Amino acid sequence: MKETWDRECDVLVVGTGAGGMTAALRARDLGLDVLLVEKSDRYGGTSAVSGGGIWIPCNHRIAALGGQDSAQEAIHYIRTVTKGVVDDGRIEAYVEHGRRMVEYLEQNSRVRFEAQPAYADYYPEVSGGKPGFRSMDPLPFDASQLGDEFERMRAPSPGTLMMGRIGMTMKEARVLLCRGPGWFGLSLRILWRYWSDLGGRLRSRRDRFLTLGNALIAALRSSLQDRGVPLWLEAPLQSLIEVDGRVTGAVLQHQGRTLRVKARRGVVIAAGGFERNQAMRSQHHPQPSQAQWSATPPFNSGDGIRAGQQLGAATALMEHSWWAPTTYVQGEEKQRALFVERTLPGCVMVDSAGQRFVNEAAPYTDIVYAMYAHNAKGQGTSVPCWMVFDAEFRRKYPCGALLPGYAQPDSRVPEHLRSYYQKADSIEALAAKIGVDGQGLARTLERFNRNAALGQDPDFHKGESLFDRYYGDPHVQPNPCLAPLLKAPFYAVQVDAGDIGTKGGLLTDVHARVLREDGEPIAGLYAIGNSAASMMGATYPGAGSTIGPAMTFGFLAAEHIHSQEAAAHVAPAREMQHDA
Ligand SMILES: Cc1cc2nc3c(=O)[nH]c(=O)nc-3n(C[C@H](O)[C@H](O)[C@H](O)COP(=O)(O)OP(=O)(O)OC[C@H]3O[C@@H](n4cnc5c(N)ncnc54)[C@H](O)[C@@H]3O)c2cc1C
Repeated sequence: MKETWDRECDVLVVGTGAGGMTAALRARDLGLDVLLVEKSDRYGGTSAVSGGGIWIPCNHRIAALGGQDSAQEAIHYIRTVTKGVVDDGRIEAYVEHGRRMVEYLEQNSRVRFEAQPAYADYYPEVSGGKPGFRSMDPLPFDASQLGDEFERMRAPSPGTLMMGRIGMTMKEARVLLCRGPGWFGLSLRILWRYWSDLGGRLRSRRDRFLTLGNALIAALRSSLQDRGVPLWLEAPLQSLIEVDGRVTGAVLQHQGRTLRVKARRGVVIAAGGFERNQAMRSQHHPQPSQAQWSATPPFNSGDGIRAGQQLGAATALMEHSWWAPTTYVQGEEKQRALFVERTLPGCVMVDSAGQRFVNEAAPYTDIVYAMYAHNAKGQGTSVPCWMVFDAEFRRKYPCGALLPGYAQPDSRVPEHLRSYYQKADSIEALAAKIGVDGQGLARTLERFNRNAALGQDPDFHKGESLFDRYYGDPHVQPNPCLAPLLKAPFYAVQVDAGDIGTKGGLLTDVHARVLREDGEPIAGLYAIGNSAASMMGATYPGAGSTIGPAMTFGFLAAEHIHSQEAAAHVAPAREMQHDA
């Protein structure tokens, strides 16, 4: 039987996050004919709504900034924090090629990064950990370079924008967070930047000064436009086509049709994780686990992972996520991650018994591990838990969707946010409103406040790590993460066991080839990003630990595909269907 194809290419890349786009770019530069396809009506995925940071040990900017790093230290650090669950080869490949990937993009595309000297690794006190430099942020990008493609890019998360609308860099956001030196002038400059873009303002509210994940995705998309790489939106992968043990193409939906796309050299699955698939969460995750708690756009439902499993691919780490505490905002399609506000002085996180159970400033993934671990002990419900703060915290700092009180007093909180938080004049009254044991909460605060006034947290050590203090308030001393909760009214926000993507996925090797249960690669099939089992094990070594590997292994997948001979497809095609 002769195979029939609706479209042919050398490399089919499924998914338009930063990893997929990097794979597409590198493959194109190696002379391969690439087709990039995306399930939703916008490209960019979670990568577009993210901070866009990448964690690249030994990156080429470190020395010029006066820092120091070595492959040996980086490998030792990753091995230590991943506790032996990740193959050494992948760790070594990441450290060796992450740096090369960034340099390549900077020299050959519109993508630009800067290293963050003060952004510590998440466990800087662990041997091989660093006080900064490994995390890199994308430089801002002018959306006018994208032309009409700007409209097709996924918009940023409102939580990453000033007043939910205006782009800020990570550095700017940090100054504004605690009203650091020059914050007022900076606010005016940001507002001016936005309003003085008359061309942009005449078109829409959306800021064309792109930062964070939007800047990264725009730079990648624009570089792909330079190369003429086609991108199909609303073209979900349905299944892979395998011939004699080799993946030769895929079945897609596109514009109301079912299409068979031949991939002469390989298919790269870059279709994100399964965080939006309730059945997979129920099967694999600790419980309870809800798809709507995720801070990601609602399209990553494990399609790529299941398509690989249909061909006998092995999976790993399915019980893990890039966990992050999240809060629900009425009317928004994804929840908001609480990355920084927990760190600030004057708040605690408590269970239904009113007890603290975690260092609130710990890395976000660890917070949710602690929520589940504590919940399992049965001493009090911590999935969900509550973030409790006082009037002083409310006045000075943001919390999730709430701007600081000085900019948005309670009287000006919009209608849709009225149910976002609870408020009461006493701790007991607040506890009654949120269904928490009032006496327990009062006891917790009595102890917490006494120690916090001294800048100490003997129970959970908040503010002791250099990482904790990065988002602390430097005006508050001796511990920028600790202050007693004294001033009424008191507030509480419900916190869910959310995520910024899942970690479990197809098992891959150093070239991002998908492996079968017996360890043999499936020829022609590659997986990267959250479609692949994370090379960071159960942990999160530093800011950018998800997109950094996604881009690096996308880069390596393209290079490996290029190194392979094109397959001669002679046998009849066998389609592997999977449940949509
Ligand atoms: C608010 C926020 C901030 C974050 N900040 C950072 C950060 O600074 N640094 C960092 O490293 N990580 C960060 N993360 C996490 C990070 O964004 C994700 O883990 C990462 O972007 C996942 O990349 P990916 O390529 O696997 O998936 P995605 O970027 O989600 O891309 C996958 C794409 O595949 C598409 N797709 C799904 N199914 C199919 C199908 N069947 N066919 C075709 N296409 C399909 C999806 O629609 C999506 O566009 C953040 C996350 C959030 C929510």
